[in-house]
Amino acid sequence: MTSASSIIILIVIALFVIGAFWLAFNRAKIKGKVGEFKVSAILATLSKDNYFVFNNITLPSKFGTTQIDHVVVSVYGIFVIETKNYKGLIYGGENAETWTKNMWGNKYEFRNPLKQNYGHVKTLQQLLHLPMSVFLPIVVFSNRADILVQTDKEVITLFHLRGTITKHKSVVFTQEQVGDFCNKIMQATIEDKGTSKRHVQNVRSNVYRRQQTIKRGICPRCGGKLVLRHGRYGSFYGCSNYPSCRFTVER
Ligand SMILES: [Zn+2]
Repeated sequence: MTSASSIIILIVIALFVIGAFWLAFNRAKIKGKVGEFKVSAILATLSKDNYFVFNNITLPSKFGTTQIDHVVVSVYGIFVIETKNYKGLIYGGENAETWTKNMWGNKYEFRNPLKQNYGHVKTLQQLLHLPMSVFLPIVVFSNRADILVQTDKEVITLFHLRGTITKHKSVVFTQEQVGDFCNKIMQATIEDKGTSKRHVQNVRSNVYRRQQTIKRGICPRCGGKLVLRHGRYGSFYGCSNYPSCRFTVER
């Protein structure tokens, strides 16, 4: 064997070893990203007219900055989602500092995500000056997790995420407030990468486009005409294609 070819073989082996180490050290991080990606994909299926989705945003907070996996702003409230792409048995007390993941006897402790998410809600609450009651925190685990945590808070698997969001049907904000909150979040977001910047611009143009469509008297959901209707709780604009389209907006 020539010395040149043995050097190449050595380099290939070295690269392989480095790659294996890199994967081992970044495993948790990569898994975390995959989890966030899966959640983003589910959130992308929500109606673009009613739900404004922010993925992986960094906001200024009392303690410097706070990174939040997902925020969904809607007239039904503000969903604050913490993702844990863990599988196996998940257990811990609602008020404990840490929870445990047990995968075939391999135990791993992590910070109680309810507490972690409470911090995220606090940051948003201070930014938007809203009561805690309008925030809807959700902790979401992999579909292959068995959640043994006793709590009435939303600690769910990916499979239940969409339903957990769409079951909330009581309106707590006007469309104008929703637009206002989105703008405040976008302004406060600390941009680190080009991707998040592009994402924020998308949300901004969605909010704007929607408001312009409504101003022109057009339903942003189906393109139908908006007509003035009088209901039990006052008058509002509703889509002329009712009942096939149930879009409404406050006067
Ligand atoms: Zn419509």
